[in-house]
Amino acid sequence: MSTTLHPSFQPMFDIVLARNPGEPEFHQAVYEVMHSLAPLAEERPEYAQWSILQRVCEPERQIIFRVPWVTDAGQVEINRGFRVEFNSALGPYKGGLRFHPSVNLSIIKFLGFEQVFKNSLTGMPIGGGKGGSDFDPKGRSDNEVMRFCQSFMTELYRHLGEYTDVPAGDIGVGAREIGYLFGQYKRITNRYESGVLTGKGVSWGGSRARTEATGYGTVHFAEAMLGVHGEDFDDRTVVVSGSGNVAIYAVEKAQALGAKVIAMSDSSGYVVDETGIDLEVLKDVKEIHRGRVADYADAVGPRARVITSGSIWDVPCDIALPCATQNELDDTQAGTLVGNGVRLVAEGANMPCTPGAVSVLRDAGVLFAPGKASNAGGVATSALEMQQNASRDAWDFETTAGRLQEIMYDIHDTCLATAEEFGSPGDYVVGANLAGYIKVADAMVA
Ligand code: GLU
Repeated sequence: MSTTLHPSFQPMFDIVLARNPGEPEFHQAVYEVMHSLAPLAEERPEYAQWSILQRVCEPERQIIFRVPWVTDAGQVEINRGFRVEFNSALGPYKGGLRFHPSVNLSIIKFLGFEQVFKNSLTGMPIGGGKGGSDFDPKGRSDNEVMRFCQSFMTELYRHLGEYTDVPAGDIGVGAREIGYLFGQYKRITNRYESGVLTGKGVSWGGSRARTEATGYGTVHFAEAMLGVHGEDFDDRTVVVSGSGNVAIYAVEKAQALGAKVIAMSDSSGYVVDETGIDLEVLKDVKEIHRGRVADYADAVGPRARVITSGSIWDVPCDIALPCATQNELDDTQAGTLVGNGVRLVAEGANMPCTPGAVSVLRDAGVLFAPGKASNAGGVATSALEMQQNASRDAWDFETTAGRLQEIMYDIHDTCLATAEEFGSPGDYVVGANLAGYIKVADAMVA
């Protein structure tokens, strides 16, 4: 990690490096935020104080636990579970659970750190946290996933509560897993505490539009960015990486706004469909059958081709929405996008663009939306779910989706205004980091 931070921030970053060895993703996330906080040191030095920086960089609590579970074959397996309760200045810890073999403490800390500022930007009363496990649900039966979730919750439940810590889904954790986790929490505590988890099924305390929220929100954010320049999604060519929950609903909203989405991906490769992705087929393959992008291509026939080498970012497009995972788009791929005339890149995943990619895009004048702003729709709608649970109410889809849209436009306007105030007009990275940080800092000092 290069060390070119403002002198007010470098000593703190050195401590983060020394105190958290072997955690490159966490270092990357802290560096990215500190880098854009530089204007504070000159203009608002009270916010660059050592005492604030120290508190922001150190999680309030980090929990690591053993998760034993039994396979269908009767074998005992052990995974590692994590929950990092990063910051509760603005509300109970809030953030998803990720089940993926790549999960380790560094990944969870990076995600938790990002979540603090993201949640702050939403304007909702939620602190930041993140958790998960290196358990891989892929290829596991429903019963195996259930036993894993029950064991995971048997340890985690003591740290949760609607006023304490409220997990939700992330990669590998969807409605099925949230159901198993909620059932176990309810059984252990003998409390129907709806507000302890979000992303629940609509019939048992979940919010309408929560499934769609992250993908829709990313497109709303991009829509607002284009709107500043008198542009929109109509007739624009879009490439979306990933094919999970975020990606599917980014496609749905982009198509509803008149765009043509021509490529999507998963860990096995990417599919190009120049006629435009068929959303119904995609949902059937991914949501019903848990299939691969190759199954999408099989289903629609020769109009789609599957490519298992190279990168989805080789596909020329006007708008790129990285919705898969961290560091999936590097500087070389950003260069290819720029060469192909990309106009806007909005992150649907958490930190999908490497720092090098972000520099390439910004230097080329591409509109760039950082994930902590553009993918905040998921957690914002989780906060709406908590609000409905607290009042024992359930809003209709239009009401909830309308609130989501307003929140995304508000976040957009906050980022733009903050970037302008600190001398970087149009820079959404600076705007998001400064606005998110200032609110958390104010609350901690108070
Ligand atoms: N995992 C999502 C995120 O990265 C949603 C978290 C939540 O709803 O609590 O923001």
